[in-house]
Amino acid sequence: MAKKLPVISKSLRFRLWIIIFLSSLFLMYSSLSDSFVNFLTKLGIDMSEKGILAIGMVVILFISLFGLGLLEKAYYTNKKEEDDKTSETSPSNSIKADSGIIHQILNEKLTHLQDKLEQVSQHSHSLHGENETLVRLAAKDGLTGLYNHAYIKERLKQELYRCQRYDHPLSLLMIDIDDFKSINDNYGHVVGDRVLKTLSMLMQEIIRPSDILGRYGGEEFLAILPQTNSENSFAVAERIRENIEFYEFEVHPSKNKISQVTVSIGLCAYPDHGQTPEDLIAFADESLYAAKREGKNRVTIFHAVAPS
Ligand code: GH3
Ligand code: MG
Ligand code: MG
Repeated sequence: MAKKLPVISKSLRFRLWIIIFLSSLFLMYSSLSDSFVNFLTKLGIDMSEKGILAIGMVVILFISLFGLGLLEKAYYTNKKEEDDKTSETSPSNSIKADSGIIHQILNEKLTHLQDKLEQVSQHSHSLHGENETLVRLAAKDGLTGLYNHAYIKERLKQELYRCQRYDHPLSLLMIDIDDFKSINDNYGHVVGDRVLKTLSMLMQEIIRPSDILGRYGGEEFLAILPQTNSENSFAVAERIRENIEFYEFEVHPSKNKISQVTVSIGLCAYPDHGQTPEDLIAFADESLYAAKREGKNRVTIFHAVAPS
């Protein structure tokens, strides 16, 4: 890299040109005429040795030319450096630099957005979970805390679909309290409600956690037993019936009055009795009425009546 000279003023260069010009003029003139020497002699300058003066002028001329040459070189070196600097900040380079900065900013923004998106997705995931809980809560019966009619029917569709897909059996129990009207009539609706609640708790304790129990109607319940055939579900239904039969309901604590409550249960199963949710509900209901007809407080398995 060329060494930068400290001072390159325009006026200095100008003065050097003047000196060169005058020296050259003098040399030309002195070589042509003696009148100039005479003129200097008149001014008091001893020009007797014209040759020595000419040599001096030649020396001055060379020194000026050398100095000018150095200055010109320094000027162009500096100019080149300036140009290089300018070219670094030239439009095309600045566009490149700008696009690099924009790229970096966009990357940062993108990362920021991705972080936000992740936060939003986590948030929506937790909201989804909360929503599911809300839906579950909304699907509960207010009095007994069991699943309500709409939910249990919908759930039956899903569970049946799953059992059909994996080739598992499924059983359905329709449970109805026997002579519940008389309980209401004898002890009042408050006691009737308490019986409904207690009975729901009892049944919930007897069935497996994987079974689904819902309040199908007033004093009617539906239990879905996935992966359970009619033989095993009959045992479960019997256990429910017996536990309720022998449970001592305190209907009047002050008077120490105890009422006996019984239930009738209609049972049907997939694939033995029906293939669709509608058929299974209808057949469980049919079996329940058969149990009522046969004397109540019993479990009846569906028997398809052969067409006559
Ligand atoms: P069955 O043995 O034939 O089933 O006779 P039942 O008396 O149990 O049946 P019925 O259909 O004649 O009467 C059902 C009663 O259940 C009548 C209704 O007032 C009562 N019930 C329905 N829902 C509720 C409830 O939420 N609370 C109370 N306390 N009673 C209810
Ligand atoms: Mg009843
Ligand atoms: Mg009923």
